[in-house]
Amino acid sequence: MKDVLEDFRVSEAPYWRETGDEITLFTAAWDARIPVMLKGPTGCGKTRFVEYMAWKLGRPLVTVACNEDMTASDLIGRYLLDANGTRWQDGPLTFAARHGAICYLDEVVEARQDTTVAIHPLTDDRRVLPLEKKGELLKAHDDFLIVISYNPGYQSLMKDLKQSTKQRFGAMDFTWPGPDVEAEIVAHEAGVDADTAQKLVEIGARSRNLKGHGLDEGVSTRMLIHAGRLIKGGIAPKAACSMALVHSITDDPDMRDALDAAVSTWF
Ligand code: ADP
Repeated sequence: MKDVLEDFRVSEAPYWRETGDEITLFTAAWDARIPVMLKGPTGCGKTRFVEYMAWKLGRPLVTVACNEDMTASDLIGRYLLDANGTRWQDGPLTFAARHGAICYLDEVVEARQDTTVAIHPLTDDRRVLPLEKKGELLKAHDDFLIVISYNPGYQSLMKDLKQSTKQRFGAMDFTWPGPDVEAEIVAHEAGVDADTAQKLVEIGARSRNLKGHGLDEGVSTRMLIHAGRLIKGGIAPKAACSMALVHSITDDPDMRDALDAAVSTWF
């Protein structure tokens, strides 16, 4: 019989550079089946960490990138019409709960509130999912775990997770790794030498100091890796930084000048 989870298995070890006790904490949450919220800015490694943990724990991973048009049916499932009539199709959350996968809801706050409320019964002791349209009360598989990511920097009063949602999760804070570790990550992921990686990380640190002084968020590890990959591909470092770091993070001319100056200090 075909393994329905086959497509969701993480077969190769994703590269993860441990930065604290995150692996121990996540493993303990998994053992206790406590839902996990990964908090932190975009591009700091949350998604990579879940991929790594899914591999380490040997569990399949179902990832959903949440957006504001997403409805509860998109997560839970719906009836589809086909040549033979109507047929129920599990949504990704239902699929993961039924078969025992880790379900990662990326940027869950983007989804409408009625959608986030739909996960509540799965995140308390009941561990059930009512499929109202289908008339089924699905009991989650023992190996099901829900993980969400959340960027506290972006939240406004209009768009925030309800307290009643937040309190269902054990939370892990993610920030930028220390400079030496971040340089190691950039060198590994972009394939650049240690010296180049170190310089990129210095530029990243400068940009992060501008947070709140004209930048909503500093340059992320992901952006530093992009710059590194451009350099590795033969683009001159200044042009690479301009494209991957400066122009993508701000349209403000003064801010661009400030960032360009930081780039010129190092390259
Ligand atoms: P997020 O989900 O927080 O937006 P990602 O997981 O996509 O961010 O991280 C962006 C990139 O940063 C990853 O693809 C990975 O290359 C790198 N990265 C960040 N932190 C680490 C780490 N600790 N170990 C390995 N790679 C990392």
